[in-house]
Amino acid sequence: MKINLKKAVITMAALLLGFGALTGCSKKSSSGDSAGNKGYVGIAMPTKSAERWIADGNNMVKELKKLGYKTDLQYGEDKVENQVAQIENMITKGVDTLVIASIDGSALTDVLEKAHKENIKVIAYDRLLMNSKYVDYYATFDNFGVGVLQASYIEDKLGLKDGKGPYNIELFGGSPDDNNALINYNGVMSVFKPYMKSKQLVVPSGQTKFNQIATLRWDGSTAQARMDNLLSANYTDKNLDAVLSPYDPISLGIISSLKGVGYGSDSKKLPVITGQDATVAGVKSIIAGEQTETIFKDTRILAKNTIEMIKAISADKKVPVNDTKTYDNGVKVVPTYLSKPVSVDKENYKAELIDTDYYKESQLKE
Ligand code: BGC
Repeated sequence: MKINLKKAVITMAALLLGFGALTGCSKKSSSGDSAGNKGYVGIAMPTKSAERWIADGNNMVKELKKLGYKTDLQYGEDKVENQVAQIENMITKGVDTLVIASIDGSALTDVLEKAHKENIKVIAYDRLLMNSKYVDYYATFDNFGVGVLQASYIEDKLGLKDGKGPYNIELFGGSPDDNNALINYNGVMSVFKPYMKSKQLVVPSGQTKFNQIATLRWDGSTAQARMDNLLSANYTDKNLDAVLSPYDPISLGIISSLKGVGYGSDSKKLPVITGQDATVAGVKSIIAGEQTETIFKDTRILAKNTIEMIKAISADKKVPVNDTKTYDNGVKVVPTYLSKPVSVDKENYKAELIDTDYYKESQLKE
């Protein structure tokens, strides 16, 4: 019997294609390739109320589109149920990869399991996704390092290394459901603990534990109300020398509270006040001499690192990570790519923020 080789190859190919369609093997690529895309990426961000997440989302979409990926960007507006519904919707739409900056890092375990069942890779973005084994990678800034930078700034400004003190300080933390907040706090305490022991740093309120200083949803007005209480209960006869604040809007709330009781004049100077995110309002406050410092996390770098992960996942290549030990989410240690945060104050904001085109000088003017 004579075999027609060409016909046999075509028949085999057709059979394989049919088999793929039947078993759903081609499902993942169909969402991207058929539309001429590299793949489909769902991006779930926590809220538009913080500038950085807007920049994070925009950077991701811009860069992914350039590379030929389709994207779906959603903001949960700090409501966990919104975020869950948005991610479920992304799964239904057939995304290949999910990039998630969570609102509550522990509230997504069910939806992550659904993603896993659909073979979707999950990248935790900036905030670690907790208590789930279905988190494949984590891209973030060195969160412990953020706390170390903030506390070291105060250490330096107060001259603690030179033995100066005692100084009065109050501590504020981020949201208790955001793992970053706890890690930041641990970084802060790694610097402050010895000075608290030697009494160079004194916390008149006595509130030094994470659960005492945490600020739900990193909310500035919640922090302002707490500062009001701290001032009236502990500072009628004392001066406040420093405030460890974890986030610019919290710092601005604290500053309003302080100004309300007369800080910010020549005779009663504002304390040293840290921050995070280099928000426009935060940097303006630094330029005006009110907030003292902030932490700049260049969202362009984080987007780039995350996209390198997505590219490697799509190409079935080794995903770039530089930390495989630190980020234990309670169930597994999540392979992580860590980037370096930068401390910014009046001295270096131009070099870090304007010369790098993160902001235009005009944005930082009144
Ligand atoms: C981020 C910070 C941000 C904060 C509030 C944290 O998880 O790491 O950069 O300031 O959330 O949005």
